[in-house]
Amino acid sequence: MTRDSDVLVVGACTAGLFFAGLMARQGYRVLVCDRSSEINLGRRYDVIHIRQENFSRFGIPEPKPGEADYVTLFHRSVHRSALDKWPKNHYSDVLVLRRGALMKRLTAWAREQGAQVLMETEFASPVFDAQGRLAGGLFKGKDGELRIGARLTADASGIGAAVRTMLPGGYGVENFITGPGDQFYVVLRYVKLKNPDEKIEYTQSWPFYKTWIAPQLKSGGAIYGVGANLSFDYANRCWERFAGRVSVPAYELEYIEQSSTPYRRPPYSFVADGFVALGDAACITNPMSGEGVPYGWLLCTIAAEEFGRAMRDGAYPDREKIWPVNRRYARAQGASFARILATLPGAVNCGAEENDYEFERGIIFEDDKEKGRGNMAFKLLMGLFSGKLSFAALKNLGGAVISGNKIYKHYMNFPESPGGFESWVKKAENLWGRTATVAALAEKDLISMGKGT
Ligand SMILES: Cc1cc2nc3c(=O)[nH]c(=O)nc-3n(C[C@H](O)[C@H](O)[C@H](O)COP(=O)(O)OP(=O)(O)OC[C@H]3O[C@@H](n4cnc5c(N)ncnc54)[C@H](O)[C@@H]3O)c2cc1C
Repeated sequence: MTRDSDVLVVGACTAGLFFAGLMARQGYRVLVCDRSSEINLGRRYDVIHIRQENFSRFGIPEPKPGEADYVTLFHRSVHRSALDKWPKNHYSDVLVLRRGALMKRLTAWAREQGAQVLMETEFASPVFDAQGRLAGGLFKGKDGELRIGARLTADASGIGAAVRTMLPGGYGVENFITGPGDQFYVVLRYVKLKNPDEKIEYTQSWPFYKTWIAPQLKSGGAIYGVGANLSFDYANRCWERFAGRVSVPAYELEYIEQSSTPYRRPPYSFVADGFVALGDAACITNPMSGEGVPYGWLLCTIAAEEFGRAMRDGAYPDREKIWPVNRRYARAQGASFARILATLPGAVNCGAEENDYEFERGIIFEDDKEKGRGNMAFKLLMGLFSGKLSFAALKNLGGAVISGNKIYKHYMNFPESPGGFESWVKKAENLWGRTATVAALAEKDLISMGKGT
């Protein structure tokens, strides 16, 4: 069987459905394919948190109380130190939603905009035209093989990046596989609290241990979470270490969910001839929190504007025309995330007492009220002279901040056209090559756990 459309989207979750709707709204014929059944769509894990303002920002109908995807709304989140002190409060309205039902909302929205959504249809391989340009894909469906021709193929297939990883080397976008060091393995324990008075009404996190507790579906319940590089096993060991040092409300375990999210720099270019990578396939999750949905929606919005323009009157979207996607995203979000990714390893590479001092003085995590207050260099030197920060911790932190700033500036100067890209990549490789990674720290930590330290 063959089908033809202007836009083929692989993956029908938060990124793919949103992009499909945005392109269909501009009058393009859009086909979204997902290997999942409609009933299981989005059920990789149950509960998702999304800041409320994102719905109006991106023009998606907001879930309201009483609707299937709405669970609750909370306003406060708190970060705490390794010694469980110095709470840093942040205030914003965050919706707690059921992910499967949210996907139903987005599917209905994409269809209303004019997109067609085809379930149980799995991308198998890319298809190229006579000039070697991407021209759609081959799929395995319920009724056998399906060939879909399209001027644009969008990869929104999540961390596996089904399309991107099958593009030939040198096509214009990196085809790396996101391996264990580049993923954040998240284990969520859905628990029932033994004392129902200890309600969990907002999120609290302990970045030193990579752990958090958050509200869940049922009152009297909570989600106890941990996320770490390398493996679920290492993540669980991080949880055990946390549970041995910090006291959280007593609970009975109901069930566990586990899934992973990208934790690495994104491909340097999101676009190539007739191609764009979106969402987790583009590795654009927030390195601080692991959240990916709003940043996915931002990249979709930029991409839909640029591809919408480039594809008018039947034109093929070649790399040159859609290049602004890269620069616009880098300047709107990518540069800040690149800075965090480069800075975090230096910030977390210290002992529990040092982490506690960093919290006390608002060195890494600031309370909303502390933002911009105090002189950072003074705080660090005070830490050194008072013996609360070792020279090694200071050096790690200082080095990481310098690297982070350089990387930020470099991404803000992302080339305006493909012409300057090669030399930009060379410099970026050099900067990343000199940057520590959280995965390398995790490996060291895992070895020390084996030794029982
Ligand atoms: C445990 C956990 C909790 C998280 N919590 C949050 C949170 O609270 N807030 C937040 O913003 N982010 C959160 N994230 C991150 C967030 O889940 C992702 O960033 C987001 O779901 C990415 O959406 P996506 O559409 O790119 O990919 P996905 O949601 O992974 O969807 C990809 C889709 O592609 C389909 N697919 C895959 N391969 C193929 C193929 N070959 N052919 C056809 N279809 C295919 C899949 O079936 C799937 O439906 C969390 C991540 C994890 C692991």
